[in-house]
Amino acid sequence: MRIDVITIFPEYLEPLNVSLVGKARARGQLDVRIHNLRDWTHDRHNTVDDSPFGGGPGMVMKPEPWGEALDAVTASGADAADTAEAVDGAEAVDAADVSERRPVLVVPTPSGLPFTQELAVELSEQPWLIFTPARYEGIDRRVIDEYADRYDVREVSIGDYVLAGGEAPVLVIVEAVARLLPGVLGNAESHRDDSFAPGAMADLLEGPVYTKPPVWREREVPEVLLSGHHGKVARFRRDEAFRRTTANRPDLIERCDPAALDKADRALLAELGWEELPDGRFGRAAPAVEE
Ligand code: SAM
Repeated sequence: MRIDVITIFPEYLEPLNVSLVGKARARGQLDVRIHNLRDWTHDRHNTVDDSPFGGGPGMVMKPEPWGEALDAVTASGADAADTAEAVDGAEAVDAADVSERRPVLVVPTPSGLPFTQELAVELSEQPWLIFTPARYEGIDRRVIDEYADRYDVREVSIGDYVLAGGEAPVLVIVEAVARLLPGVLGNAESHRDDSFAPGAMADLLEGPVYTKPPVWREREVPEVLLSGHHGKVARFRRDEAFRRTTANRPDLIERCDPAALDKADRALLAELGWEELPDGRFGRAAPAVEE
């Protein structure tokens, strides 16, 4: 996969050199290119912002540098062949794939669609992502409209809060996407049971995890995890996932597909105070009304 990031703070993206993403880059599985937006300015002060039309506080990022930057980066698809070679049998960045397909433009903004595991999976299947993290009050809208005519543009929010800039959201999105790429995680099974992972545990948060020693500060690992009984371990993990999800994300239980619930799930939900609705879904039992 190729990833381009256009930013006025290239140094903010340094963490993309370490850990999982850094290793994927070193192995040639990820071709990450960081660009300084100011390289596409033409005045003495390398200006990227101006006051908003219509008045109001804050500044808005000017369309001209973004337009030139995006034109240059999108046009550079054909030179993707200079990416590192894969080592250890890892899947290399496929230059032909990148040049033949259009990039997806990922625009971090608090007013975008929520970033979810589902979207991470979708983005991980793309050969090329271009990120446009903004500062100030964001980018002049015409830039998004201009490229939405030509490319798949995704305006994405990483949560219901406002950060000072889009670089931290880029780090979040790239890490979530990169760990899904084939060969990036040491154990390909690692993300199978993650919270939000599609599959048997979909719509559930992952329960607690434990490692050695079996007793730490007089706290014991749940016995069933030491039993070696796969069926019992799986049931314990599923029950714990339900307990955590009901406590922290009841909204996920409410939209849980009834077909994904087995008899034991239903019994546990009832025990936890949930009520089976006529359509088979579960809702929180209404509190008893006092006379
Ligand atoms: N005035 C904008 C609004 O209320 O939607 C906020 C602009 S914010 C100060 C500057 C930039 O930070 C945004 O354009 C975006 O790139 C990034 N940003 C801030 N919060 C974000 C979030 N929750 N998700 C994604 N990007 C965010």
